[in-house]
Amino acid sequence: MKYISTRNKNKTVSGAEAIAMGISDEGGLFVPESFPKITKADRDKMAAMSYAERTAFVLSKYLDEFTYDEILEMVNKAYSRFDSDEVAPVVKLDDSLFVLELFHGPTYAFKDLALTLLPYLLTASKSKIGDSSSTLILVATSGDTGKAALEGFKDVDKTKIMVFYPSDGVSDMQKMQMITQEGSNVEVVGIKGNFDDAQTAVKRVFTDAKVKAELKKRNIELSSANSINWGRLAPQIAYYISSYIDLVSSEEISDGDKINFVVPTGNFGDILAGYYAYKMGLPINKLIVASNKNKILSDFFHEGVYDVKRDFYKTASPSMDILISSNLERLIFEATGRNDKEVVKLYDDLKENKKFVFDVSKIDEVFASGWADEEETADAIFETAEEYGYTTDTHTAVAMSVYYDYIDETADETVTVVLSTANPYKFPLFVYNSVTGKNKKLDAFKAAELLEAEIEIDRPDGLKNLKDKKVLHDKVVDKSEIEKEVLNFAEK
Ligand SMILES: *Cc1c(COP(=O)(O)O)cnc(C)c1O
Repeated sequence: MKYISTRNKNKTVSGAEAIAMGISDEGGLFVPESFPKITKADRDKMAAMSYAERTAFVLSKYLDEFTYDEILEMVNKAYSRFDSDEVAPVVKLDDSLFVLELFHGPTYAFKDLALTLLPYLLTASKSKIGDSSSTLILVATSGDTGKAALEGFKDVDKTKIMVFYPSDGVSDMQKMQMITQEGSNVEVVGIKGNFDDAQTAVKRVFTDAKVKAELKKRNIELSSANSINWGRLAPQIAYYISSYIDLVSSEEISDGDKINFVVPTGNFGDILAGYYAYKMGLPINKLIVASNKNKILSDFFHEGVYDVKRDFYKTASPSMDILISSNLERLIFEATGRNDKEVVKLYDDLKENKKFVFDVSKIDEVFASGWADEEETADAIFETAEEYGYTTDTHTAVAMSVYYDYIDETADETVTVVLSTANPYKFPLFVYNSVTGKNKKLDAFKAAELLEAEIEIDRPDGLKNLKDKKVLHDKVVDKSEIEKEVLNFAEK
């Protein structure tokens, strides 16, 4: 399988190269040249497989320079760090509503599904292409990617990892997880600004010839652990397919029945993986994009204008506080009939005018979208707990709220899977206030303690222990200083 750039179709690279490079030199994103099919016969075969084997099966369709066994070995190592062999269990709320729990990894958010695996994929990819340089991973995080990438890459040979987070734009628990990070090859830096500032600054470093040349002198190559990297997206396709197979196995649906997925969305990586699963032949009725109050995507899907000139809100679902959703570019690429010139034009518009206009009737009809404000998010946590005895985190609650609105509007009775992207104890105060109907002001650890007395889920040790951990990274810099920071860290 070859990969092409969304901004230059003539540029083709192998899967290993796409993963090693992260992003194409001219700023485009790598996409597979075509979508391999997973047939009903494949799904039947996959039903007897473990989650890790299902993932290896899907990945082997995309990474043909690796053998299935090589891939499986990497996946097994990655997913041995999850708290259950199921890795991504499907939980039934009622006959037509299911939750796909993606927070059983080491950092309690869905990013672990890809970021426990990416270090293995990256190291193996570099060795496949005969690249002996060491790697400096740069990450911009809205909260969860940073910690998951740090855990994945800490102490990995010939690799350093540097994470930039918006200093006031992540939850207390997310921040504590990152600034207490141990490991000999890690650095965590706060950026004054929001996630988009951090992401734009990091992207700038990737195309900065001077920085690259400096690093090259030291035999260091940059790579990305953000969902612009194909190695992040590909493992996420597996859980859409796996959850479908689980529903068939438990006789909730018959193979061939179409289902809906509702996905709390920020950078558009997670739902894009669902779209790729659909392109591979998974029977999907609707992929529902759920935005929080930063509803740029929902506006775009309804109105066809992607307009970044708008207020930015800090919400209770910080990992979705994003205005520039990188992976939308991959969808636009498909919607234009894979027209790289048009993609370049649209993204030039975005850079210059902070907006672009697109005929959304060209976007696949499988997509639907909606959004929830803070009050609706709180209501969804309360209602889901009342109705189903199930407590969700704040991001998942956004998806629940959008789902409740969607069925009110459409009366669609299709079996629906809501992707549950984080453990509720990562956002304890908002969840506690929502389930109890209170409006307390508490620190995160106190809130987590009280929440534990209210709900059926136990607090994970890794979040409980954070309180006593030493802060190891307290640096906060201006976004203009990011190049300097990168070079300093590379020197160390
Ligand atoms: C990252 C994240 C999201 C958004 O996923 P995208 O791939 O960025 O759209 C949703 N929920 C949680 C908890 C996250 O960490």
